[in-house]
Amino acid sequence: MRKPIIAGNWKMYKTITQAIELANGLKRAFFEIDASSIDIVLCPVYTSLSEVAEVIADSNIKLGAQDVYWQDEGAFTGEVSPVMLKDAGCGYVIIGHSERRQYFNETNETVNKKVKAAVKHGLVPIVCVGETLEQREAGKTFDVLKDHISGGLAGLTEDEVSKLVIAYEPVWAIGTGKTATSAQAQEAHKYIRDLAAALYTKDVAGGMRIQYGGSVKPENAAEIMQQPDVDGALVGGASLKADSFSEIVNRGLKAKVKK
Ligand code: PEP
Repeated sequence: MRKPIIAGNWKMYKTITQAIELANGLKRAFFEIDASSIDIVLCPVYTSLSEVAEVIADSNIKLGAQDVYWQDEGAFTGEVSPVMLKDAGCGYVIIGHSERRQYFNETNETVNKKVKAAVKHGLVPIVCVGETLEQREAGKTFDVLKDHISGGLAGLTEDEVSKLVIAYEPVWAIGTGKTATSAQAQEAHKYIRDLAAALYTKDVAGGMRIQYGGSVKPENAAEIMQQPDVDGALVGGASLKADSFSEIVNRGLKAKVKK
């Protein structure tokens, strides 16, 4: 059985003080959750990583970053390397988020370099894929998913692919309040899993964790995560408050455990 994974993408929100407060609230909220039943990951801004790492040390919460550069070090002003993320306490890193594709020229090629660098250093990449509204309406959803997956994961070994997480995030559902229906989410997740079976092996596909992301809230978390190929959620807006994120985790956990 695949272990569910729910991650909070804090985007460009929270000062260090606010991040510490939120992490403390979540640590209290998740106190009784068994770490072997679910991976809970917080992805704050770079400036808060070390402080959040300190708060969640010895807890059942894990730390992730929102991006990474592919070089270990060097004259790359403004970038942060996988070595530095590990040093700050990260175990995960979001790569290829649609906001990075949209505003910061992220391409399949840069996603691929980042994914390779992350796995080389033992970080678990959360690789984001998903179509825009125009692409969905033009019937190109599967083409986009195939392009993002085959491009973003190009050249990775089966072993490397088996360690990463995919986040299916339809761009039209991110931060818009519009959620994909559970049927739409399941359809896309099944397509991704079938594609992984074709590109790699049935075993790799069967073990691949695929999160859904796009306006996940406490109200829709259970229905989405009940879908057989949905293994968790990548949560933006609703991860910025302890009560809503903890409710999503509780409902998601119940939805997966019930199956
Ligand atoms: C995200 O940032 O990955 C995301 C899914 O955002 P939201 O939950 O706010 O739509």
